[in-house]
Amino acid sequence: MSTSHINESKLKNLFIRNTLTGKKEKFEPLKPPFVTLYHCGITPYDYSHIGHLRAEVVVDVLRRTLRFLGYTDIAISNFTNVDDKIIKRAKEEQIHWQEIPKRYIKYHLDVTKKINNLPFCVYPKVTEHIEDIIKFIQILIKKGYAYIGSTGVYFEVDKYPYYGQLSKRKNKELWEQEIEVLKDKKRPYDFALWKFKKPGEPYWNSPWGEGRPGWHIECSTMSTKYLGKQIDIHSGGKDITFPHHENEIAQSEAALGVNPWVKYWFHIGVVTVNGQKMSKSLKNITRAGDVIEEFGAMPVRYYLISSHYRNVLDISYSDIEAKKKEYERITGTIKTLLTIFEDIEPSYKMEDRDKNLFYDIMKSRARFITAILDDLNTAKANLILNKVDRLVNREVLTKPNYSTVLAAIDFYSTANRFYATWDDLFKGKLESQGLVHNLIELLLEVRGKLREEKYYELADHIREELNKLGVIVGDDDKKSNWRLK
Ligand SMILES: [Zn+2]
Repeated sequence: MSTSHINESKLKNLFIRNTLTGKKEKFEPLKPPFVTLYHCGITPYDYSHIGHLRAEVVVDVLRRTLRFLGYTDIAISNFTNVDDKIIKRAKEEQIHWQEIPKRYIKYHLDVTKKINNLPFCVYPKVTEHIEDIIKFIQILIKKGYAYIGSTGVYFEVDKYPYYGQLSKRKNKELWEQEIEVLKDKKRPYDFALWKFKKPGEPYWNSPWGEGRPGWHIECSTMSTKYLGKQIDIHSGGKDITFPHHENEIAQSEAALGVNPWVKYWFHIGVVTVNGQKMSKSLKNITRAGDVIEEFGAMPVRYYLISSHYRNVLDISYSDIEAKKKEYERITGTIKTLLTIFEDIEPSYKMEDRDKNLFYDIMKSRARFITAILDDLNTAKANLILNKVDRLVNREVLTKPNYSTVLAAIDFYSTANRFYATWDDLFKGKLESQGLVHNLIELLLEVRGKLREEKYYELADHIREELNKLGVIVGDDDKKSNWRLK
């Protein structure tokens, strides 16, 4: 391992690529220690696929990185639970439209939990925020940024001078090509804030007529409601930079009178399958739950983290399989290290060989952190992780020494603070062993004695109190057993 100089400031600060400026910038939140984050969530009209999972895992690593640096993240993610696709799907299945989002939100929450993502503080649904959305649109009308047409209420793009700043699309003809054209709009690129109802569609009352909100306005409204007028980070898939995020900025900056509305725009690369975009017609949509079922949640998480978040991730089962092997090898190393460390005598002296090894591992730990803080370069961090794992297997496990084993455990537990793929090894250790374990055993031994002496009331009391603490006690004929709830 090389021992080149490590830049100290790069160990303490996060640098992220900001789509708004097109540059990699030092991350400085508006109101430290808090960091507000809004992630554009899914439209639940179908099963979440591997692309959704990747975006959410990347945001999860970003949140864990913020926590590593001592920030308090306040992160929310929405559900667009009323939408053309949802209505279409309900018609196809001949069920009430609300059944569709109900089914797929449950699926989405289930897969993101399985993959060990931190939960979001709130998952605002559009249908729960209609009043707020109406108020937001009223502000836009009052300020002269929106007008009422015959099919809906529209945002007048020409009134907002900075349109195109995020996606770098300054050419209006290009906007026209990419946006749905409706006849009653002043300009083809004006976009809907409120859509008047069509027969058979869900609708709500509004000052302008019955209808439902447009897609973009929900994110502006709900982020403002929970995170305030300006937010630190807005994340989402790269594919929705235009027009969705561009429109969110226009609405928010026009209504709220702030600039910039979002300090850092964080975009995650799309996922392809064998080089092609996932689509129904190609029948190559990979459901998140299916991949987890096939390879296991933690190997999939490890795989998703191992590539750079901004790059296109081309999914192939052979790549996931290869990463799974890597994950299992590293898991084996950690288990062995933890077992060795239980019985090892502390070092009272370090030989030169071990001292050099110790410093190599510690330097790699610093390099690992530096890679993560450098725009979440998990691809580089993953190379360091594997390099260390080979070194540990070759030099540490073959000739274990207290200090080198400790350095290695420290390295892996640091990696786990971002990867969160070995939580069970590091946390399970504390729960199942040590003081807690011994105390429960002791209590049960005392309880067994009480039962022998027929002090059943006291014995039951111990069982009930343990139950309240999350320890479930069962009684066999001779001996009691216990497990954690
Ligand atoms: Zn959004």
